[in-house]
Amino acid sequence: MEIIVLASGSKGNATYIKSKETTLLIDAGISFRQINLRLEERKHNLEGLNAVFLTHEHSDHTRGLNQTIKRTGVPVYTGKKTYKSIRDILPLAHDHIPLEADRPFMFADLIITPIKTSHDAVESYGFIIQEGDKRLVYITDTGYLEETAFPKIKNAEIYIIEANYDVGLLFDSNRPYYLKKRIDSVKGHLSNDDAAYYLTRLVGDKTRTIILAHPSQECNTAACAMTTLDTVFKAYEKSLDPYDIVVASQHTPTKLIHL
Ligand SMILES: [Zn+2]
Ligand SMILES: [Zn+2]
Repeated sequence: MEIIVLASGSKGNATYIKSKETTLLIDAGISFRQINLRLEERKHNLEGLNAVFLTHEHSDHTRGLNQTIKRTGVPVYTGKKTYKSIRDILPLAHDHIPLEADRPFMFADLIITPIKTSHDAVESYGFIIQEGDKRLVYITDTGYLEETAFPKIKNAEIYIIEANYDVGLLFDSNRPYYLKKRIDSVKGHLSNDDAAYYLTRLVGDKTRTIILAHPSQECNTAACAMTTLDTVFKAYEKSLDPYDIVVASQHTPTKLIHL
């Protein structure tokens, strides 16, 4: 599998995933033009795209969806409620395949398992994407991770996990208090500390790559996210040495990552 996080953050999210037999996008929250430009920067393109998997309806995940579906004709895989809430922004002719939590299904040579996340959306999902015996776990836009999901998401080869905000920067920011509480709530986003703590529980001997995702532009920095990860791992007497750590960004696609 080849993976590029094309954009990540509150102004737009899109991730490109290509296996031997299929190509998909998780979210299309930047313009179709930007998706193509950023893929081109990494010497890839949307040729052979088979689907867009949509985590939830927020505009930072759907901004480029209409054009992407219109121009490529691929179906949208998302929750029933999410689909209902975005039907108006989709082109007239398109297919929708509903997702159900914890129901794995074959998608070409991949096994995809939607997992429930906790977010202030009508419905929201993360994904386990398995190729052979290797797994990519993709989780953003969630206030917390369900303990019961741990066995399924432990010891994956790659984690794309939300590290949205630094708690100090968030509460020092000029944002209105209700918004700070919303972000920090169980239906908001994962902080750097949350992501780091969960990763101490999840990584294992198979884990190679950690991508910290969906960073807030005002309340986080790549350095801050890395420092927190380092501090929390040290506190749990774990080493980050075995892992390639990438902080995804709003404006620049990540390098091409191989599973
Ligand atoms: Zn988002
Ligand atoms: Zn969201």
